[in-house]
Amino acid sequence: MYNISTLKNTLNQCTGCGICAVICPNKCIDLQLNSESFLIPFVNEHECTHCGLCVKVCYRVFDINNSTEGKGLENCKVYSAIHRDESELKSVSSGGVASELSKYCYKQNYNVIGAIMNPEDDYAKHIVANCEEDLEKMKSSKYVQSYIIDAFSKIDSNKKTLIIGLPCQIYGIRKYIYQVGIEKNFILVDLFCRGTTPINLFLKYKEYLKSEYGLGEFVKLNFRSKRIGWHKFSVVIQDKDGKEYSKTVYDDIFFSFYLKNTCFKESCYECEFRHNRVFADIRLGDFWGTKYYSHDEGVSLVSIYSEKGLEIWQKISKEFIFEENDPCELKKSQRFNKFPIPDYRKDLLRALVSQASLKDIYNRFEINEMSFYKEKDR
Ligand SMILES: Cc1cc2nc3c(=O)[nH]c(=O)nc-3n(C[C@H](O)[C@H](O)[C@H](O)COP(=O)(O)OP(=O)(O)OC[C@H]3O[C@@H](n4cnc5c(N)ncnc54)[C@H](O)[C@@H]3O)c2cc1C
Repeated sequence: MYNISTLKNTLNQCTGCGICAVICPNKCIDLQLNSESFLIPFVNEHECTHCGLCVKVCYRVFDINNSTEGKGLENCKVYSAIHRDESELKSVSSGGVASELSKYCYKQNYNVIGAIMNPEDDYAKHIVANCEEDLEKMKSSKYVQSYIIDAFSKIDSNKKTLIIGLPCQIYGIRKYIYQVGIEKNFILVDLFCRGTTPINLFLKYKEYLKSEYGLGEFVKLNFRSKRIGWHKFSVVIQDKDGKEYSKTVYDDIFFSFYLKNTCFKESCYECEFRHNRVFADIRLGDFWGTKYYSHDEGVSLVSIYSEKGLEIWQKISKEFIFEENDPCELKKSQRFNKFPIPDYRKDLLRALVSQASLKDIYNRFEINEMSFYKEKDR
């Protein structure tokens, strides 16, 4: 049986979801950056009463081979969805289902929790939406880890709540709401996820854009602009003087590190949620692959795992051009394999916390040439 000390020995498998900190009755767990600049829990052992609640919500005790929890990845209904409103479609990463769900739930007076990233910040954070502007900020994928504790600690658990997050966060939240008996009020939505990178990668990327492109303080940041198209999406950043940086995913240095899986959190490489088990009511992603290849405006992949998920999808589906697909289409559209950990990962993580510039690190570890990586391979 795991306890707090055995958890310490499995820290490399920590996803950094932070739900251990949320559930801790003594508030003796806090998420902090570790030496590789990933968020992980730190425990004040003097205050710990060994109640074991943190263990009950932790991914590190999840044993896929001996667990029947969650749903099998293909045990779902699968839809493709394209938002009917053109300007809405332009403003989102895929087909716009996450943002339509958020809008619908907000109007129904739910707590709506999603990730935002202020352009001047180095990380994303989840917030509880207070106004429609907050819903706008939640749009679009932020390819950095999001800090969820503050938002989750603020919600009124007697109120209906929609939470959209990464699969590891949603796993922890599912465990938490089950543990404290408030599951019926929650709709949980997660995203197909490739992995998350250390905060220092983004920090060095900002320094790189400032020195190489002369950008000043960022006032706009979009990792998933569709100005050239959805398949070849662009990173678009504007500074306070109106100077703009815009590069496609294949030409941008941040995405070279990201798409080559160079420095994910260790737990991301063998993530059981990517290829195996789902704890959300709905999982959303991009309908990559050949079936919708001719669409370049953005197509959502909507996979539904519960009655609750189906019910809410039916409420919003009229806003979309959609069609039902066979669940086997999931495997054609996503990468479900475990990713090998590059031999150089530890050295790269060390370099990212050193004084070296991103360009030097890029050259030293030969993170170059995205040309081998074609859109159809994604
Ligand atoms: C780190 C990351 C990796 C991804 N990897 C894949 C992948 O491999 N394959 C794939 O098909 N799709 C992936 N996605 C999901 C995809 O990019 C879209 O987010 C998804 O299809 C929803 O888009 P949308 O058009 O419905 O709505 P949008 O409005 O674009 O949805 C954005 C939603 O994502 C949430 N969100 C954004 N950033 C984060 C974050 N850092 N942490 C937690 N939640 C966040 C927001 O709360 C919001 O609800 C990934 C997303 C992220 C954030």
